Amino acid sequence: MSKQTHSFQAEVAQLLHLVTHSLYSNPEIFVRELVSNASDACDKLRFEALDKPELYENDPQLEVRISFDKAAKTLTIADNGIGLSQQEAIDNLGTIAKSGTREFMGKLSGDQKQDAQLIGQFGVGFYSGFIVADRITVESRRAGLPAAEGVRWSSTGTGDFEVESIDRSQRGTSVTLHLRDDALDYASTWKLKELVGKYSDHIALPIRMRREEWKEGEDNTGGEMVLTDEWDTVNQASALWTRPKKDISDEQYAEFYKGIAHDFQPPLAWSHNRVEGSTEYTQLLYVPAAAPFDLYNRDKKAGVKLYVRRVFIMDDAEALMPTYLRFVRGVVDSADLPLNVSRELLQESRDVKAIREGSTKRVLSMLEDMAKAQASDEASAEDKAKYGKFWSEFGAVLKEGLGEDSANRERIAKLLRFVSTASDEAVVSFADYKARMKEGQQAIYYLTAETLAAAKSSPQLEVFRKKGIEVLLMADRVDEWALGFLTEFDGTPLQSVAKGAVDLGSLQDEAEKKAAEEAAEQFKPLLAKLKEALKDKAEDVRVTARLVDSPACLVVPEHGMSLQLARLLKQAGQPAPDNKPVLEINADHALVKKLDGSPNFHDLAHILFDQALLAEGGLPEDPAAYVRRVNALLA
Ligand code: ADP
Ligand code: MG
Repeated sequence: MSKQTHSFQAEVAQLLHLVTHSLYSNPEIFVRELVSNASDACDKLRFEALDKPELYENDPQLEVRISFDKAAKTLTIADNGIGLSQQEAIDNLGTIAKSGTREFMGKLSGDQKQDAQLIGQFGVGFYSGFIVADRITVESRRAGLPAAEGVRWSSTGTGDFEVESIDRSQRGTSVTLHLRDDALDYASTWKLKELVGKYSDHIALPIRMRREEWKEGEDNTGGEMVLTDEWDTVNQASALWTRPKKDISDEQYAEFYKGIAHDFQPPLAWSHNRVEGSTEYTQLLYVPAAAPFDLYNRDKKAGVKLYVRRVFIMDDAEALMPTYLRFVRGVVDSADLPLNVSRELLQESRDVKAIREGSTKRVLSMLEDMAKAQASDEASAEDKAKYGKFWSEFGAVLKEGLGEDSANRERIAKLLRFVSTASDEAVVSFADYKARMKEGQQAIYYLTAETLAAAKSSPQLEVFRKKGIEVLLMADRVDEWALGFLTEFDGTPLQSVAKGAVDLGSLQDEAEKKAAEEAAEQFKPLLAKLKEALKDKAEDVRVTARLVDSPACLVVPEHGMSLQLARLLKQAGQPAPDNKPVLEINADHALVKKLDGSPNFHDLAHILFDQALLAEGGLPEDPAAYVRRVNALLA
């Protein structure tokens, strides 16, 4: 292949424009990005070579070499990993491969200064090289291909790049940065060692640099450091998770997280353990501080990488974590799984099942620890704030666990936090609620609605407000489904205030009970008439004790689906029961008292029903008819 010129994908060109035109708060991150690519390339080779050992080409010592040439103003990061074929160089270095980079693109604000800062924290993979270089030359040959199929890729980071064939006996990739004049500081052993230590110490491969030696000048007149042909390993070259905990600093844990999660914020918590039992493995699991943009996609890739005896096997090993913990990032390194394990095999493996159970327990204990710190007076302000952060980012996902993970249902229930009629912030746990229950109260009351505002002003709450009984308010889509799996907490039943007949039990005094019975008796004829008028809309009509200010409300049977969930399902094109709700009326309300004997009985009955539907977040079946009826009354 002779020299060809290709254009970058439009997104890459846009990214490069930013990279080459901005001032960076943190230009040095290019080292982390390029070393991480070199390390990925070695991981890929190791994995492909499981079936094809000939790919090692008698050179099985995988490593990264960093070198520089001050006179030529170049810095080179080379690996003997999988390498790139000519086509791969065109495809992979001309388009944005990495989802992390794409996510970064989505976060661009258009403000150059802000965006430049973001790059500094985030890194944008290979293209980070252009922060310090005005030209990048990549030379590579894919493992297994003949020397004649080497490739040279070169670009100044503007609109296009060039590729041509070269002869290259050395397998793998070398990336040469032609340093800008203001970036010549990086051509220094001292500087590069510092950056490798900071960003890449945990890389499991040796990162090597030429040894520097002091050379006396002629006739003992001064001297200088010169590079020798000896290569020293400058990192620890052992995977971070294989090291003893006591040798790993918080910064190292956080840097490792940022690398694997493509996140620039430090994690909220991590848990690092070696587990020995029926199956042996090491886990290093992290709880991120912020949710990725596609968290609510249940098909989203899981975030735990699988290694087997230090060999990288796969990203996103979904079998290692239940779906409701899909926000967790980290690494599991198994001592027992076969190296050639496939995704299908993972699903069936007993070892994997044990790992998943063990990892789930670890994550739940991390969350419990954070929750404990939140409630503790001894914890630092930073630690106290963590669980609240976690909850606002991931709480709705954790709730899915009530349905998904029956074995840990109780532990999950203890971790839930809610807004309630006693708290505008989502900090109320079931235990807090129970501690505040009224004398004689027999249930934990809750209400689900489309929004918190709708929940707060729901007529269903009136009697609870009047009696000072706390009600948990829920507005996440998942709430009703998830809470359906929880019939009780610590011996106390959960009760939706919008379902079934309200039974306040001993919270109602004798006089109230008597009044209610009398009302029911007295209203019998009216109820019969209402039932007849609304027979197409309401399953039943009855007198209720739950209302104080409103004339009527709608309820569904004890175990029925709420009207709001049924609406959600229908909007999503899913089957939902067409059950008719029960209309409950407030016998003390002036409007209800007027109803009997009114010449407009039929219209009033329908208005009463439609208003109850509106108050609950629904829409009258025939809005025009509703408007007509109300207008007729107003006129
Ligand atoms: P990411 O590493 O997240 O995929 P990068 O922008 O860092 O994104 O790299 C883009 C792609 O370029 C990689 O996915 C890989 O295919 C290729 N690449 C980069 N560096 C190397 C390398 N040293 N060896 C082989 N391929 C590489
Ligand atoms: Mg990369």
